[in-house]
Amino acid sequence: METPKYKRVILKLSGEALAGERGFGLDEKVISQIAKHIKKINELNVEVAIVVGGGNFWRGRSAEEMDRTTSDYMGMLGTVINALALQDALEKIDVMTRVQTAIEMRQIAEPYIRRKAVRHLEKGRVVIFAAGSGNPYFSTDTTSALRAAEIDAEVILLAKKGVDGVYDSDPKINKNASKFDKLKYIDILKKGLKVMDSTATSLCMDNKIPIIVFGIEEPENIVKIIMGEDIGTKIRE
Ligand code: UDP
Repeated sequence: METPKYKRVILKLSGEALAGERGFGLDEKVISQIAKHIKKINELNVEVAIVVGGGNFWRGRSAEEMDRTTSDYMGMLGTVINALALQDALEKIDVMTRVQTAIEMRQIAEPYIRRKAVRHLEKGRVVIFAAGSGNPYFSTDTTSALRAAEIDAEVILLAKKGVDGVYDSDPKINKNASKFDKLKYIDILKKGLKVMDSTATSLCMDNKIPIIVFGIEEPENIVKIIMGEDIGTKIRE
């Protein structure tokens, strides 16, 4: 049997990725498809930690009138709903999981404890990180970079909805937009490419964490990337 290219990864699933066609809330069919492919890489003994977004419920920065900090806490709560939905879908197909939240809510999930998270991974459990970093003014992309550095993940698989990599302009608007196979972190910052926010990009750059941006409409891409196929856009030094 072929061996996976990676041993420990962070998979970032945006809220949109879990929302399906509606773009809001949760699409159980879509989530169960994603869960099936997470199971496949779990069975290959790849240690998978997932950071879930919350944009399918709430994005702090889009509130106009509300206090930003309050709005961001609402966004973080949205990620917890997503984490529980994903946990449910994974457990239905017999994948052992643990949800860890960056804001304590002990009746629902474990609090985030790095050493515990690593231990779960070593035991073959899928760890789902919820409530972002626990801090307002951050994003779940930044959380992915932070957790990847903390747990020593080899790569961040950044799942995107509606696009299969990083383009030089918006492919939905410009049909001549061209896709990058490879990119340097600094190019994202210099060109202002809308891949991830600058805080997340800088954290990856400073800690040399490679990122693979790919389309989640085909969830088997997760398995393909793990097996070493060149899919999407790879971002590194
Ligand atoms: N958020 C936050 N701190 C964090 C992570 C997230 O305040 O460390 C809030 C923020 O308001 C953000 C929302 O949670 O807009 C949802 O996260 P994000 O926008 O990253 O989700 P995605 O776009 O990936 O679905």
